[in-house]
Amino acid sequence: MAKEQFKAESKRLLDLMINSIYTHKEIFLREIISNASDACDKLCYQALTDDSVKLTRKDFKIDLSVNKDARTITVTDNGIGMDKEDLENNLGVIASSGSYKFKQEVGDDTKDTDVIGQFGVGFYSAFMVCDQVTVRTRKFGSDTAYQWQSSGADGYTVTECDKSDAGTEVIMHLKDDTEDEHYSEFLEEWKLRELIKKYSDYIRFPIRMAVTKT
Ligand code: ADP
Ligand code: MG
Repeated sequence: MAKEQFKAESKRLLDLMINSIYTHKEIFLREIISNASDACDKLCYQALTDDSVKLTRKDFKIDLSVNKDARTITVTDNGIGMDKEDLENNLGVIASSGSYKFKQEVGDDTKDTDVIGQFGVGFYSAFMVCDQVTVRTRKFGSDTAYQWQSSGADGYTVTECDKSDAGTEVIMHLKDDTEDEHYSEFLEEWKLRELIKKYSDYIRFPIRMAVTKT
């Protein structure tokens, strides 16, 4: 299948991010979880004016699961989801949206030294630790679900897929470990708990974690 190419600036940014000297790679989880939370907020907001949204604030949640054999971390939300156009507009253009808009930071250890960390670096930060990211998503009110997949700067594909409920699943496949980088650490429950506590403590929806034992 022909790959869609990222817009030129996006590609440069992505290259920069993937190969950056930026050391706080662990913030990728914060970015993916904050997107899940934003998606829940959006559907929650829509519920105020749309009776077809049967969910109320307490029904929204973010699930984390790990598959050590497959080397994947999956973050699932039951938020607003994306249709094909949303995928093209939001995940096809890096930093087109609010990626770089200032985000209020919580937690002291990201101050001063972590300049990038004070901004939302966004979805693409996943490529700092992943060699493939798959997004399976269905927009609320739509019958069709889509899968977006990318291995980084060489572009992405969008195909139809099956997904029974509205919301989004982000499946992150971790890179192989190197001498300097031990990506496998992100498959450890204690590590993920640590990151959630450190960076995602302010999230107002429950974050639950399931770990597949091997
Ligand atoms: P930002 O969150 O600052 O807008 P991101 O790069 O983090 O930038 O995400 C880009 C866009 O992709 C978001 O604005 C949103 O429209 C879409 N998106 C990302 N993750 C999700 C998700 N889990 N559910 C719905 N939309 C999402
Ligand atoms: Mg974001």
